[in-house]
Amino acid sequence: MTKKISEWVNKNIKQKNPQHQHAPHKHHKKPFPNKDGGAKMRIIPLGGLEEVGKNITAIEYGNDIILIDCGMSFAGPDMLGVDYIVPDVTYLQQRKHKIRGIIFTHGHLDHIGAAQYVVPKLGNPPLYATKLTAGLLKNRLREFALDKHVKLHEYDERTTLKLGAFEVEFFRVNHSIPDGMGVFVKSPAGTLIHTGDFKFDHSPAIDKPADMQRIAQLGHRGIDVLLIDSTNAIKPGFCKSEKDIADTLEDIISKTKGRLIIASFSSLIGRINQIVNIASRHNRKVFLSGRSMIDNMKLAEDLGYTTYPKGTVRKIGPHAKSLPPSQTIILTTGAQGETLSALTRMAIGEHAHVKIQESDTVIISASPIPGNELAIVNVINNLYRQGAKVITNGDMDIHTSGHAHAEEIKLMHSLIKPRCYVPIHGELYMRMGHAEMMKNVAQSVTMLENNGDILEISKQQGIRKSKQKIPANDILVDGLGFGDIGSKVIQERKVMSTDGVLLLLFRAYEKTKRLVCEPNIISRGFVYVKESQTIASETKQVAKKAFEQVVQNNRNIELKELKRQLTLNINRFIRKRLGREPMIIPIIMYI
Ligand SMILES: [Zn+2]
Ligand SMILES: [Zn+2]
Repeated sequence: MTKKISEWVNKNIKQKNPQHQHAPHKHHKKPFPNKDGGAKMRIIPLGGLEEVGKNITAIEYGNDIILIDCGMSFAGPDMLGVDYIVPDVTYLQQRKHKIRGIIFTHGHLDHIGAAQYVVPKLGNPPLYATKLTAGLLKNRLREFALDKHVKLHEYDERTTLKLGAFEVEFFRVNHSIPDGMGVFVKSPAGTLIHTGDFKFDHSPAIDKPADMQRIAQLGHRGIDVLLIDSTNAIKPGFCKSEKDIADTLEDIISKTKGRLIIASFSSLIGRINQIVNIASRHNRKVFLSGRSMIDNMKLAEDLGYTTYPKGTVRKIGPHAKSLPPSQTIILTTGAQGETLSALTRMAIGEHAHVKIQESDTVIISASPIPGNELAIVNVINNLYRQGAKVITNGDMDIHTSGHAHAEEIKLMHSLIKPRCYVPIHGELYMRMGHAEMMKNVAQSVTMLENNGDILEISKQQGIRKSKQKIPANDILVDGLGFGDIGSKVIQERKVMSTDGVLLLLFRAYEKTKRLVCEPNIISRGFVYVKESQTIASETKQVAKKAFEQVVQNNRNIELKELKRQLTLNINRFIRKRLGREPMIIPIIMYI
């Protein structure tokens, strides 16, 4: 199918897309127009295409590579003990001398959160970010003691970067964190636009509105490939504006008599700024709770991303109780029901400074990220139990997403009119839905990529998918080290968590390999042994027999092989007898 698409692109696209009658590539119809005619620009998404998170795209041309974003993703509940996931950069490590820079579109962790892992691996290439993103990035690198080794450059919407063979320009978009940018990249082989995470908001919280005029101008230059955010593509209509959300919040705040506790994302700096301004209009003081909320707002204040008077916001502490409830707003993290977050601790009565009272109103100004629903319900139940009233986005419009809905996506397409359209950022179902929707709208050819696929643009061959594939695995991090947890470890943790562990202790004479006594069983989390003496003694018998047989067949058997065969035998017995597969660990002591 891919081949068909690329043939179709090469044959038809120039005639079918009138926009490009005026575009530069019209002239490229001449065969081998210049020396560079043979070179290819390769677009390689190494993450962000089979998940929401871990966004990273490499763009390669000749001796130059640039990267757009370098994010992490959070581990799902099935990845026991894994804290987060970073992208596989093996391909880039082997070519680190070619890397001219990493460009960050905005400051969310799924776009900057793997920098501490990737940047040193690639020989500390220069980083490029807008002011706020650079601030967040600097804090992150400082946390990992890397800030002194890295050159971090700020850019804005007027910047043009020359990075090797690439020319890079930017355009403003809106998102749920200020200072989000889309990226235009030109190489001798062609052009591309990467939207970053985006939406269009005509009355955003603190940003300027997305620059449609600029986007259209870039589109007029002729864009070969558009890489475009899919996160909310299958949601109809337009995102609500931050202004509407602020109006609803102001309405609630003005009518509420008691104390207000508002939970949101700590990166929603624009919304938090609006809430603080509303609070001061209604004679309320704002207290911040949660480390990331406090850190982010301090950074936002220092860099000039807030409009409230300095000193309006304070960190939560014992002094918060000195004000009457009607004059207090507590802004907190924990809108996703995270186990250790401030809101969760309030809900179970374990927050050092906030005790939930009967007259409290809790507003959850966020919507659940898939997978977090149960945790949030739990927190809401606990808040009700403590006597609070809870308002969620289901009750009133107190949250809007940062990702374009269907109509905004169509608008972006019609401003750019690319030759080839590639849905990025999202699970397969989101990107498939996105592609399906564009069938009726776009004149461009839509291509679905996976992590590690390569899209090649050249003047001779047009745009096509390469047969080559780049490694793009999940690198798992458990807080202690990078990438030292393989999938086997996860598998073992799963086995232990579902079926428990069974330790079998064999004691035997070294010379004769005869057992000194019956094997001992120690079990953890494997219920049957404790409950049933019969099963315990049966298992012992099976273990004993297995040991004797294996040793009889080969007296000089290696320890590793002996253990393997014992595990196999005991495992087979327990699976047959109980339908369970606990982790079996044989321990052999020779005396
Ligand atoms: Zn984002
Ligand atoms: Zn994102």
